[in-house]
Amino acid sequence: MNRLPGRLVLLGHPVAHSLSPTFQNAALQRAELPLTYEAFDIEPRRLAEAVARLRAIAAAGNVTVPHKEAFAAHCDRLTPIAERVGAVNTFWTEDDVLVGDNTDVGGFVEAVSDAFGASRAWRKVALLGAGGAAAAVAAAVERWPACQLSVWSRTAQRGQRLKARFPETVVAARVEAALDGADLVVNATPLGLHAGDELPAPVHLLPPRSCVYDLTYGQLETAWILAARAAGHPAVDGLGMLIHQGALAFERWFGIAPDRKAMWASVRS
Ligand code: NAP
Repeated sequence: MNRLPGRLVLLGHPVAHSLSPTFQNAALQRAELPLTYEAFDIEPRRLAEAVARLRAIAAAGNVTVPHKEAFAAHCDRLTPIAERVGAVNTFWTEDDVLVGDNTDVGGFVEAVSDAFGASRAWRKVALLGAGGAAAAVAAAVERWPACQLSVWSRTAQRGQRLKARFPETVVAARVEAALDGADLVVNATPLGLHAGDELPAPVHLLPPRSCVYDLTYGQLETAWILAARAAGHPAVDGLGMLIHQGALAFERWFGIAPDRKAMWASVRS
């Protein structure tokens, strides 16, 4: 097992709503590790100061919205996947070296495999949104042989930025074109977080038999998930990705696997 970090933290703004402390503390208890996972609300202008303090005590932890890209710039070393995505969601210190990693990619792959079957060979992914989470999805799609990625972004510039990092990506001018022929449709916008949000894409445009993965999650399943299911599409929310990225982070920090069942049970109760 790895040496224990000085502290185990989540940095975000806001963080009060986060489920990470719930399931990470459940996993720490199950593993009998003498640490508490703590969430800190850090305004962007205070990030550098927070990183310096955490570095001094050899802390480890996670980074969430809006710090994932900015945190990467503070790291001494990035893992190849964090480098590829251009964002960090997991970090630790190794002999005074601050290491940044990205477990959102692996978390997404594991969640999709859990939801729709490990043996599925995806041919085309339609990605709605082109921000940080979309970049993690794009890096995951690169792992799927011969899978095409089509992105729709309401801000064209954002889509082009994603394409600059992932040149194989097709940036669709209209949502219809992104969805056309897709067998997996992914919502990587925040639409669905709030009751009354419009749907990320009209359900009647989903190709027949396509699967739907919504990165958002909350107390209740989103209106989009429910509508897609009612129209006959297998559809799940982002809770699975959240748990899997957290479990992969736990493995990086401690060198041991967490009890994923205990993590799931803690968020369901
Ligand atoms: P982000 O970097 O801010 O990107 C958000 C993207 O959604 C941008 O392309 C943005 O476009 C678009 N968007 C925002 N509001 C929109 C609207 N009203 N209509 C259409 N497009 C809109 O955020 P992110 O970090 O990628 O996160 C996106 C979502 O994924 C969040 O809900 C986050 O909680 C979720 N997430 C879940 C997990 C998980 O483990 N399940 C992990 C990471 C993220 P503009 O540039 O035009 O604003």
